[in-house]
This record gives sequence, C-alpha cells and structure tokens, in this order.
Amino acid sequence: MKKQYDFIIVGSGIAGLYNALLAKDIGKVLILTKGSIDECNTKHAQGGIAAAIGSIDSPELHYQDTIAAGAGLCDPEAVRILVEEAADRIEDLVTLGVPFDTVDGQIALTKEAAHTVPRILHAGGDATGEKIETTLTNAARASKHITIMENCLVTEIRVEEGRVAGVVALDSNSSSVEEFRAPFVILCTGGVGRLFRITTNPEIATGDGVALAYRAGAEIVDMEFLQFHPTALRLPGVPLFLISEAVRGEGGVLRNENGDRFMFNYSEMGELAPRDIVARGIVAEMRKTRTSNVYIDVTHLPRRVISTRFPQIYHFCLEHGLDITSSLIPVVPAAHYIMGGVKTNYWGETNIAGLFASGEVACTGVHGANRLASNSLLEVLVFSKRIIERAKAINEQGTLAESKAFLLQDRVTDSTSIPPLSVTALQSLIWENVGIVRKKDQLEAASSILSTWERTHLLPMDRPSYELDCMILTGRLMVEAALIREESRGAHYRTDFPETSSDWQRHNVFRKSV
Ligand SMILES: Cc1cc2nc3c(=O)[nH]c(=O)nc-3n(C[C@H](O)[C@H](O)[C@H](O)COP(=O)(O)OP(=O)(O)OC[C@H]3O[C@@H](n4cnc5c(N)ncnc54)[C@H](O)[C@@H]3O)c2cc1C
Repeated sequence: MKKQYDFIIVGSGIAGLYNALLAKDIGKVLILTKGSIDECNTKHAQGGIAAAIGSIDSPELHYQDTIAAGAGLCDPEAVRILVEEAADRIEDLVTLGVPFDTVDGQIALTKEAAHTVPRILHAGGDATGEKIETTLTNAARASKHITIMENCLVTEIRVEEGRVAGVVALDSNSSSVEEFRAPFVILCTGGVGRLFRITTNPEIATGDGVALAYRAGAEIVDMEFLQFHPTALRLPGVPLFLISEAVRGEGGVLRNENGDRFMFNYSEMGELAPRDIVARGIVAEMRKTRTSNVYIDVTHLPRRVISTRFPQIYHFCLEHGLDITSSLIPVVPAAHYIMGGVKTNYWGETNIAGLFASGEVACTGVHGANRLASNSLLEVLVFSKRIIERAKAINEQGTLAESKAFLLQDRVTDSTSIPPLSVTALQSLIWENVGIVRKKDQLEAASSILSTWERTHLLPMDRPSYELDCMILTGRLMVEAALIREESRGAHYRTDFPETSSDWQRHNVFRKSV
C-alpha cells in the first residue's frame, strides 16, 4: 500500500531537518534520507552562519558584501530577503537550543573572507555544523508528527497532471522499492562535491537532487558556478579535511614552499580576498614553485586561541601527527559548494507545483556566481521558513521569471577514446576538465565522455549505481553550462574567455525536453 503524508522531505541535513520542524505544525511529515541521519554536508560546516547582528553591522552592509561576492549574478531581491530575515531566523535557532559561542553574554562574532565586518556566529568553536545537526536531529526525533526513514534512497519524483504526487525510494533496510505520496515534496539533498576528485564534501554529495528534479521536469540553473574552497588539509593518507576560512579570518597567513607570504601579489585583500581569487592564487603559486600544496601559518597566534577557537581542526591535525601551533598546515583548493541547482522563486517553489527545493540543492539566487562565506546555512533557514509559509497558503499558481532555456543534447564521439566508467574515472574527469581553470576543448571532451557514459550505463539497481547515474547527469549539466558561458565570472573561470562580459549577465537554465 502506498503511504500518504502531507510533506515528504528528501534529506536530513540542516535543510531537511529545519523544514521538517516547521512543517510538523501543519501536517504529517516524512523524512527520507539515504544514509544515517547525520550523513550530510551540514555536520562538517565549521566556520558558522553569517547574520548582521553586531553593533557595527547592518543588513545593508551584509547585502553589499553578498552582492559584491556574487559577481553580478545575485538576485537583489533574494539577497534583500536573506539579509533582512537573518536575525529572526537566528533567534529561532537559539530558541531550538543551538549553543552559539558567546563573549561576555553576547553572541561571539568572527570575520571571514569578503565580509567587511565580523558577522559569523559559531558554535563549539569550529563545530558549528555538528552542533546544529545534533540540536535539530534531537528536536525532529522528539516530534510524533515526524517519521524519519534512514537508508532510503529516493530514486524518482512522481509528477501527475503537472503537480508533484510523491516519490519512489529504495529502502535498504528491507531491500524493497516503495512509493510514498504527498502533495508537497521538499528536496533537501545537498551538493555535488563528490563529482570531483578533490573535495571537502562527504560521500553523500553526489548531486542526486539535481538529477531527480531534472528528470521530473524541473528547471536547473547556474550549474557552471562551483565554488572551490582554497584551503583543505593535504596530508598523505589522511582524508581531506577543511581548514576553515575563519582560520585566515583570525590571522592565519598563506605561505608558499619557500615560506613567502604571497596572497598580496594577487589581491589587496590578501588572505581575505573572495574564495575564487584565493583558490586561483594558490594554484598559480603551486605551479610557480612546482609543488602540490601551499601552507597556512598560524604559529604566530597564541596556542590557547588556536585550541579553543578551532578545536576540531587542532585535534584532527594533532591526531594525524601535525601540531599546528608549531608547524605549517599543508593545504590545497578543493571542490566545495555549488551555487547553482534547482531553480526556485523567493518561496522555494520550483516550476512544478508542490515541488520545493531547499538548501544547497536549490538555486534561490542569493549566491549569484560566487557564494559569500557562511551565507549557505543562513540561506537554508531563511528560505525554509518561506517554503512552509507558502505551503500553508497553498498557492499552486506560482510561476518563475523567464530565463534563457537550453536542452541537453547528446554528444557523439569516437567511442575508442572513451575511458571505462567508474566513480574514480568520473571524478578525475570532472576535476581535470571542469575544475578551477576551464577551457573549451577540455569541456567538450568531458561532455562527450559523459554523454557516452549516459547512453551506455546499465539501468541502476542499487545505491552505488543510482548515485553514479545521478553523477553522470549532474556532471553533464555542469559541463554544458560551463561550455555555454563564454566568459569568466565569479567561480567560473575560462582561460579562453578570461574577461567578464555584460552580454552574459544572465542565467542559463536547463529543462528536459518533453
Ligand atoms: C566541510 C564543509 C564546511 C562548510 N562550512 C560552512 C560554513 O561554515 N558555513 C556555511 O554557511 N556553509 C558551510 N558549508 C556549506 C554547508 O554546510 C552546506 O551548504 C549545507 O550544510 C547544506 O545543507 P543541506 O541540508 O542542503 O545539505 P546536506 O547537509 O548535505 O544534506 C543533504 C541530505 O540529503 C540526503 N540525500 C542526498 N541524496 C539523497 C537521495 N537520493 N535520497 C535520500 N536522501 C538523499 C543526504 O544523505 C543528506 O542527509 C560547508 C560545507 C562543507 C562540506
């Protein structure tokens, strides 16, 4: 028998849990998540949440910083909503019990790259994501209106007569395929980092939501804009681990192999320049010195500041034999955050009635071509609240503004040059050909290979093959978007089109042909 709910929420990071906690007051909620509840990007967030709550700050300043980072592609109205509703949403988190760090009874604020003033709230030092995930999980588990099904991979969004009707999921607990029905489905499936060989994202980040939504007929936008975090720890044999922006915000400096501080050669903002500039500066420096990493130096900071402000980073490095109070931290840029995704309006609605998208899978327009650090957790809070308000009002007629639309075309190539398909082969292909620095022939080669894999990949039967299937489709959307945009803007950099062009101050949308 098909099970009926009022809301189906796909994913259990901050977006899934927060939407569920709001939705439970108006209906019966089902959360489906493909791993255990805390397998998500959220748990790994270190730096914190941006909100203009400090005495020298204002929503207007936060607005200006966000717009500047977005390189001409932010939706100004979406950013206005983000910065003006921030303080109320932070209060909601405090009420839910998130233990933000304080100084003299006031919430402590730190500074991160491209923010003009300190405005980043944090919890447990650099354990912000973990504190949020735990607090929201406990609240969701305590509610009798929320059912949580772990190890359930959503494989299809059902659309009937133009509106969402539910989802199909592969339940690994019972090894069965089940259908769940609801008038509202909220996609909260997170990011795409795992499409790249080097990434800060955990294993779940395989871009499922983009592929599911595209196949259901939803519009996908801005997939060429992938943010590379400049500083991930690179120690041989150790899993990649983020060294938060806040480390540079608190005074950490970047040095090359020769011990020279170099970021001021690339930007007058030095280490606190926007992420794309720092990432490209590091790549250039690695090329110059023929090395595979650079270093962050915090040895000049007091030991107590390092261990209390960054306990996770400090202990992780120490466990792997690196005392960061006395040694330099080896780092490389890594794929981190996708600005594009499932296109939504200011109420989180997609172009399919009843289907919403929230969190990293969504593109609300607040990040434009480049996300301002710590705006993503805030975006989830602000737009989740609006999703549930919208669902309450039940207006099925919401429409989105017209953008330039594209169809995904098959690409044909000489089949002898196609490498065998595997996750590793896909990750290497995307990392090499669709990475920090891009150009036409490499993008075209990647697209042809992905297109061939898409045609020849066998019908998926289990979680790994479904994920690989999603990675191929999401990868194709990223590559084609990067090919179409013949300019450089924000996180999208092409050596064959290095300038930003006003002709391209627009969004490119993909939608399945019907
Ligand atoms: C290392 C790291 C540090 C970061 N630091 C910060 C920071 O300091 N500040 C900030 O604002 N942002 C930060 N970010 C970004 C931020 O953490 C994420 O953008 C945010 O947590 C995304 O939340 P989400 O709920 O959308 O997705 P996630 O938290 O990734 O949750 C996605 C969920 O969807 C589930 N899922 C996926 N596909 C399926 C499927 N097919 N079926 C069922 N379930 C599925 C997953 O299992 C998971 O539960 C950081 C990210 C990383 C990786």
